[in-house]
Amino acid sequence: MKLTFYGAAQQVTGSMFMLELADGYQMLIDCGLSYERKQNLKDNANFTFDPETIDLVIITHAHIDHSGNLPTLIKYGFSGQVLCTMPTMYLMEQLLFDSAGIQAGKLKKGHKQNDERKLFGYKEVQKTIERVVTISFNQPFEIKNGLSVTFTEAGHILGAASVVIEVAEQNKSCRIGFTGDLGTDNNCLIVPPNPMKNLDYMVMESTYGSRFHKDMESAEDILLKHIKASCVDKPGRLIIPAFSIGRTQAILFTLNKLFRSGRLPKIRIFADSPLAMSSSAIHDKFIEYLNTEAKAFFTEYHTLFDFKQVYAIEDREEKEELNLTGSHLESMIIVSSAGMMDGGRIQEHIKNNIQNTLCTVLVAGFCTPGSLGYDLMQGKSTVAINKRELSVYARITSTDTFSAHPDQTGLLSYFGKVKKAGHLKKVFLVHGEAESIEIFKDKITETGFENVVVPKRAEYFFLD
Ligand SMILES: [Zn+2]
Repeated sequence: MKLTFYGAAQQVTGSMFMLELADGYQMLIDCGLSYERKQNLKDNANFTFDPETIDLVIITHAHIDHSGNLPTLIKYGFSGQVLCTMPTMYLMEQLLFDSAGIQAGKLKKGHKQNDERKLFGYKEVQKTIERVVTISFNQPFEIKNGLSVTFTEAGHILGAASVVIEVAEQNKSCRIGFTGDLGTDNNCLIVPPNPMKNLDYMVMESTYGSRFHKDMESAEDILLKHIKASCVDKPGRLIIPAFSIGRTQAILFTLNKLFRSGRLPKIRIFADSPLAMSSSAIHDKFIEYLNTEAKAFFTEYHTLFDFKQVYAIEDREEKEELNLTGSHLESMIIVSSAGMMDGGRIQEHIKNNIQNTLCTVLVAGFCTPGSLGYDLMQGKSTVAINKRELSVYARITSTDTFSAHPDQTGLLSYFGKVKKAGHLKKVFLVHGEAESIEIFKDKITETGFENVVVPKRAEYFFLD
């Protein structure tokens, strides 16, 4: 069979791999949007294969860089089924409709080129969701004679799966595993990763292949330390940019734990992201997919993210009121999307507060070079927001305690477990910047495993 790397090859986003069997059956594993620097959204429509010939798509998890190009694939002729877990289907539905809404919004402003930037609309998203077939974890699912797929828990976000594909052809059987994005062993909400077994080949993410998580205390202790330093020991605003799926829930759950244990200072917390709020409701619906601690917490308090001091901002008036509240002197915490600060409601909060010396911005996730979050992390003295150049007077700080990806140590540990539980012939490293992948490749070879490949975009390999 033939494995081709159509995306996430020597880059972080745009996850898309094709597996083609000897009889011509074609599967895509993930169909994500690529949003690398200097890339036009519209480039995502340039599939270098014919979408009509794809028989099946398997989605590892809902994040837009893994699922966000599915409606485009359908627009250009894909008519097969889409396999994923049940929570992924619900989260994907939210994210894809949100993405279509953003594209439609851009059009309304009447810029001439905007139509060119539109990839898909609500109609294609609806069609995408109608194609979904959900399958459970750890239950082999037979797609056709000689071809089955099994999901194992990836531990990255709610419903995230690693995918094992077993192919029997020409009197031989072969197992290929795709990690998707992995999580850490100590995620505060999600079950830890369950390593894939009996693999011949593994396509492995290496986003943090050259990095080490530094924050070793508990998430509660770290968050409390930041809260005290930014808005308890002195008046101030703590703004936490967070992805609407995964990161926002981890932060609100940690704040809720602090509240229930009586450790949360008496300040108001504003959650300003409608998408994050609907994604929180999906977490409440799928408690059985969460870890033991989160399940026990839910049994005791009947809620994961809702508590007295937290206010969800529903409409524009509430937001305007928030911007005026206390002339910037009332201590408060604002959690808003998106994590890299390049879009969504967070931009407005940053714009309104970046020149406020009493404000702290706590960056809690990965920011790609070129994003506003990255510029702030680099300590730039001015940043451009909505074409306005603004001086940075707010304090910028960061934590990696809420990271949804393992660091180098975690990735090596995962690799070690898969190697031990199988007969690996080759590992392909994807999802990472080129330099970071090379460092991680060296780390794997140091363990005595030589057959590590860093594929280029559109490069293909024959597996047996
Ligand atoms: Zn992800």
